[in-house]
Amino acid sequence: MTTAPTTGTGRPQERPDPVPPVLELRDLTRHFGAAGRAVRAADGVTLTVGRGEVLGLVGESGSGKSTVGRCAVRLDEPTSGSVLINGTDVTRLSRRALRPLRRHFNLVFQDPSASLDPRMTVGRIVTEPLRLHGMLRSTAARERAVELLSQVGLRPEYADRHPHQLSGGQRQRVSIARALSAEPDLLVADEPTSALDVSVQASVLNLLADLQRDRGFGCLFITHDLAAVEYLADRIAVMYLGQIVEQAPVAELFAAPKHPYTQALLSAAPLPDPSAQRTRRRIVLTGELPSPLAPPPGCRFHTRCPLATDRCRTEVPRLRPLPGVGREVACHLVADDGTAPDAAAPRGAEEAGDPAEREGTAG
Ligand code: SF4
Repeated sequence: MTTAPTTGTGRPQERPDPVPPVLELRDLTRHFGAAGRAVRAADGVTLTVGRGEVLGLVGESGSGKSTVGRCAVRLDEPTSGSVLINGTDVTRLSRRALRPLRRHFNLVFQDPSASLDPRMTVGRIVTEPLRLHGMLRSTAARERAVELLSQVGLRPEYADRHPHQLSGGQRQRVSIARALSAEPDLLVADEPTSALDVSVQASVLNLLADLQRDRGFGCLFITHDLAAVEYLADRIAVMYLGQIVEQAPVAELFAAPKHPYTQALLSAAPLPDPSAQRTRRRIVLTGELPSPLAPPPGCRFHTRCPLATDRCRTEVPRLRPLPGVGREVACHLVADDGTAPDAAAPRGAEEAGDPAEREGTAG
């Protein structure tokens, strides 16, 4: 509680402290390898996931989004920066000190086959977090396992089976039941449907959406599937080569992406309306994602950006807020009022509207 100094009666007035986000990453970096030859998988990532909020983290394979997810749940150690869970800085906590806090966060992996112990029964797997955190009486174990399985749409008899006796979709349901069994405040879901058959992806996604709505946990949803993120997330953060280049509420980002990379990603996603799909201009990015061993100077996207100017090759664009709640972008060509050039119609810098070049203030 915070004590406010003024009241009409002379008594101090108490007001509740603001609720901290379930996850906060501050300037998080994760480099692999020796300094000077390090792979810069994540480089200065700052984001939050509010209580009951789903933040979609999108980007191409190799953009660093899975590294961010693993650092968020301390499966990977950040090189620098901070990880806060429910307002507590857990970045440098020892394994022992972290143990009691672990029940507040969990992770669902991309490949359920690799993440489930083949020797354990499904009932044992889903109740394991409860056992680890002393939240389970042995007499109630089976009852609790059956309850958890029913919450993810699996019948009681599945409790006695082993992972190899299940389909891919069923295994992912078991992973989700296990991750949520201790009722965490934060779930990091790393491409939870991409290893599944297309036919079962939608049902697993629906399950996650239902559970998130019912239980109200915060979720960092890592994916390259824009349709999935549009369906599930409240906000989106777009990553490119280890950095966040744009953040916005879902509806606003899909309606008006500002960053040329976001525009390119959205232009490649299929539209449900066939006539809109026919008339849409696709932004084809040339070249490969550069190596995170040696990211390009200036804007990291300049080697593939259809709008790049000389300024982009030397000056790093800072992630800065735009008008509107939660909108941020890192691009020199997006004006402070949010006006953004169309990457599908590349022009010269002046025409494209580099605000600094127009005003003669470019560095
Ligand atoms: Fe493209 Fe330049 Fe914007 Fe980077 S800063 S996205 S290179 S226009």
